[in-house]
Amino acid sequence: MMKRASWLYWLGIGLAVSGCALPAADKNETRPAQQVGIAAPSARDAHFREMFIDWKLHSLRNDSKKLHGFLLAMPKGADLHSHLSGAVTTERLIEWGAEDGLCINRTTWTAEPPPCKDDSVSLAKTKSDPALYQNVLAAWSMANFNGPLLAAHQHFFDAFGKFGAVISEQRGDDALADVLSLAGRNQQLYIELMQGFDSSTIGKIAAQYIKPGDAWTEKMLLEKRKQIIADPLFQPTLNKAVANMDSAVQGARKLLGCGTADSDPGCNVEVRFLMSANRTKDRAYVFAQWVYGYELTQQSPQVLGVELVSPEEDANSLKYYDDEMFALDVLHRFNQTDKTRRPVRIALHAGELIPEVLPPTPEGQQHLKFHIRHAVVQGHAERIGHGCDVLNEDSPTDLLKTMRDKDVLAEICLTSNATLLGKTGYSHPVNVYLAQDVPASLSTDDEGILRINITDEFIRAVTLQQLGYPELKQMVRASVEHSFLPGASLWKQASRYDQVTAACAQDDLGAEHPSVSCAKLLTGSERAAMQWKLEGQLAAFEDKVARQQ
Ligand SMILES: [Zn+2]
Repeated sequence: MMKRASWLYWLGIGLAVSGCALPAADKNETRPAQQVGIAAPSARDAHFREMFIDWKLHSLRNDSKKLHGFLLAMPKGADLHSHLSGAVTTERLIEWGAEDGLCINRTTWTAEPPPCKDDSVSLAKTKSDPALYQNVLAAWSMANFNGPLLAAHQHFFDAFGKFGAVISEQRGDDALADVLSLAGRNQQLYIELMQGFDSSTIGKIAAQYIKPGDAWTEKMLLEKRKQIIADPLFQPTLNKAVANMDSAVQGARKLLGCGTADSDPGCNVEVRFLMSANRTKDRAYVFAQWVYGYELTQQSPQVLGVELVSPEEDANSLKYYDDEMFALDVLHRFNQTDKTRRPVRIALHAGELIPEVLPPTPEGQQHLKFHIRHAVVQGHAERIGHGCDVLNEDSPTDLLKTMRDKDVLAEICLTSNATLLGKTGYSHPVNVYLAQDVPASLSTDDEGILRINITDEFIRAVTLQQLGYPELKQMVRASVEHSFLPGASLWKQASRYDQVTAACAQDDLGAEHPSVSCAKLLTGSERAAMQWKLEGQLAAFEDKVARQQ
């Protein structure tokens, strides 16, 4: 269990070890190490080195440029909560829409296919009309948005529908290349992207098989599952989705120049996918999407599991919440009984709620009290997206213990939560999760629409959540530990990063040439291999920071 510690405490230890004399400092003191003559710590002492890096980070807290430089260079592991369509840079979307001849409706600011109607103009006009460009940019993202919280909430979710027509099959490689490049430039190794994979096609056929009044039982759902899979649209849709995904990944790597001397940093980023169902539809639609997601995961090693997306406060989201958790329980147990099937991992948005977005009735407000718990207990979620209202749930201490015991990770999205829920500073539960030893990692959610990158999230964590280097490092490690990459962990115990598993216990973490037993583990486990790479990056980063003193 890692306890938060005052940087002054660590600094005191550092001084005792190094024998330096340092004037008494208070929490606001930000003088860099070189001004007070502290020698770099021994690289042999990883623990001391980590404390020193923490002190260094705190010394930069009030220097935004240096803080950015430090956190930009810090290895950040995995982004586990990112929606592909919301992650693409808005400027690129406008550019592609213009190139592809799309139109923009001047009233709704929605991209439309040509020919342009009376109330629309060509998106290409944005190149010569700066005011038009700014209007589109503002409509498709949170750029310069100044409205109240609930207006921001609505504006954000509306944006997806406005630029949706731009991200066509033909733009899959461009979209992926944009996201991978940004991740690579921000020192990330891995990203798990949420995507629909044309599951709406299968969602739409659900009504043929499941009537609104049908009893929502395990027997019925498993029968309907078979019927949905047997539908003539099912397999062709799935085949096409896999082909499109493979083509987008290959195309993105080509665009990034991977394998050439001039490769983009995005080439260093591995990508996998989660198929997301749309919770604003009815329960039969969502169930059919998940049936599709389960089969997609069997067919493509690039797809690792399923998700549930779109506004959690939507009337359908609320109405069918528990029915959907029940359906996921049925599909999960069914998948587990057949050992020939690949595991389908489950991450769910839950607890992305505030009282203001829910109906004011007692029934409406009740939803604050159980979504996270039901996602974990009934829905088998191994990761919770946001989990912002955890302290509003019934018996929150017990819920946090359940998450800790089940090793469920909270995907923390600080900018998103501040922008859409008004949760920032002490009103955000990230420190609660950490204090209760619930695994947590930092994610971007929708970095395109929000106009951020993962480094911004680390800056927020330091400046607004008072997190230090040990907490950031723990969250970076947790991001890869809780990725859905297959294989055993590098660590002996889940979510504890103080003991390496036996195969690599005698090795220097992240070493270029691991021992025979360690190499065997890394070859057989994608997750351990990624963890090994991360440990090498963290050690190199810490050595570099220490040497700068
Ligand atoms: Zn999300």
